[in-house]
Amino acid sequence: MTAWWWWVGGMALLALYVGGRVRQRLRLSRAKHRSLHGHARWSRRLARLMPHYEYSGARFFSCDEAPTEIVAARQRAFGALGQRLRERAPLTRAATDAAAPVISDLQFVSRYRVPFQFSRVVRTELASGAFLQAAQGVTLTDLDGNISYDLAGSYGVNLFGIDFYRTCIDAAVARARRLGPVLGGYHEVVAENARRICAIAGLDEVSFHMSGTEAVMQAVRLARYHTGRRRVVQFCGAYHGWWDEVQPGVGNPRVIRDTFVLREMHDATLEVLRTRCDIACVLVNPLQSLHPNAAAPGDGTLLASDRAAAFDRAAYTAWLRQLREVCTDRGIVLILDEVFLGFRLARGGAQEFFGVQADLVTYGKTLGGGLPVGVVCGRRELMRRFRDDRPSDICFARGTFNAHPYVMAAMHEFLRRLDEPQPDGTPALRDGYAASEAAWTARIARLNARLDAEQLPVRLAHLVSVATVLYTMPSRYNGLFQFYLRAHGLALSWVGTGRLIFSHAYTDADFDAVADRFVAAAREMRDGGWWWASPNATNATIRRQVLRELLRARFSQAPAPVPLTPHAVRSSNAGS
Ligand code: PMP
Repeated sequence: MTAWWWWVGGMALLALYVGGRVRQRLRLSRAKHRSLHGHARWSRRLARLMPHYEYSGARFFSCDEAPTEIVAARQRAFGALGQRLRERAPLTRAATDAAAPVISDLQFVSRYRVPFQFSRVVRTELASGAFLQAAQGVTLTDLDGNISYDLAGSYGVNLFGIDFYRTCIDAAVARARRLGPVLGGYHEVVAENARRICAIAGLDEVSFHMSGTEAVMQAVRLARYHTGRRRVVQFCGAYHGWWDEVQPGVGNPRVIRDTFVLREMHDATLEVLRTRCDIACVLVNPLQSLHPNAAAPGDGTLLASDRAAAFDRAAYTAWLRQLREVCTDRGIVLILDEVFLGFRLARGGAQEFFGVQADLVTYGKTLGGGLPVGVVCGRRELMRRFRDDRPSDICFARGTFNAHPYVMAAMHEFLRRLDEPQPDGTPALRDGYAASEAAWTARIARLNARLDAEQLPVRLAHLVSVATVLYTMPSRYNGLFQFYLRAHGLALSWVGTGRLIFSHAYTDADFDAVADRFVAAAREMRDGGWWWASPNATNATIRRQVLRELLRARFSQAPAPVPLTPHAVRSSNAGS
């Protein structure tokens, strides 16, 4: 009898345990975004199965079954664009071609400027140069002397204009010279930097690192150390650097088990945070407020015209506050990753802009005054790397180059000019934020009105001075728009029209010059026939077509791609 009761009790406990686990698992599934980005493991599996195929010859111009006159117009336009880009920058291109075999990053970015089906032909015919000789104001000059407006913004570092950083670095070199590149001991500016950052962040302590990726690594490590939990929550599509743990999907060969990629701005996510006991921290990249749950919008993944973005300040503010509340209730560390947006939206960054106080904040990019840096700023009890009662239980984080005197001196100049007027009367940068937010809204609205008036199927969505190009009619060829922009003297980063990063040194006149070029490029793209679409085409039909092509390529014995020489492509465009 006793054994029987033991058995029943054991089974009941087992049922409870299994039921609990099943409920937990279901809750987690509900909190995942439906897209592939929300399912890191599946996306990695599918990425491995994805076959290569490509459009070459006439198919390059007619993959949307365009009629012959449109195909002919496209061929002519493509030939002319290629020729223009070649003639515009022969030295820059030659230098890039010569360097590419020994710089793996160049090979990588040149492959992913457009969807892979178009990549080989585009690489050959519309190759972009990677070298620059000078920068001035809001422009960049390539090796051939072409001056382009800088819409790449040095990955976000260039917030106040390149001349600002130049002077920060000059002042830093002069100031740090006496000590020189001595590591270990601190230059005197370090203490003031720490105090200023703590005051800006509303937090107690800082640690210095060399990159945003490192800052994120340290913030997560501290959160795990102090909570004793192992899971990290990040949101679908958000970038936090290239450390394994925060890149659980495509791009990382290692399987990551401790990171949950959940749906941003969704109750199901809050429910997971409320009910699980193993979550150490939630990482938020506030740039996602421009496109919640979507990955960084590069043109390399622009298969159709379904890039979506719309910034809703009130909704994102409400979301961050809910998140703050749940994290506080559950003892989860809220980490605001301000590496990209810090100092762009407001002096106090996203914390001030959205009115939320994080437990740990990561900074980088612009805070280095033009030199490489990463910073973690946080509450005293979370920043601590040791325990009084367990001397061997430490949280190690030290790096050779942390607090490098030259970097610290450039950061010091940055922070000083943020808050203090210049001797020549230039006002402190902190005074410019409200005006700049309004100015960017007006500028982007003006450009969108011009595009609308000319019925051009492109628009910009933006978060202050960070913008992304949206395509308003279904097309397979949007990836080519970036090359028209480049031909019109607008310098884009390798992600093309997905992310335009303006510095706050842009004046209205500079922006209007950019707008003129942008509109002219869009007209040319339209006149080239690239935005022709069959009346039945939708983004969904395009996606289905690509899926069919992928399946065909996967299950047929596709011939290996033929090596493509520039000559072969040009002769395949001979009809142009
Ligand atoms: N976090 C965010 C939000 C970022 O945007 C980036 C870089 N784009 C990083 C972390 C990584 O910074 P870094 O490239 O300096 O390592």
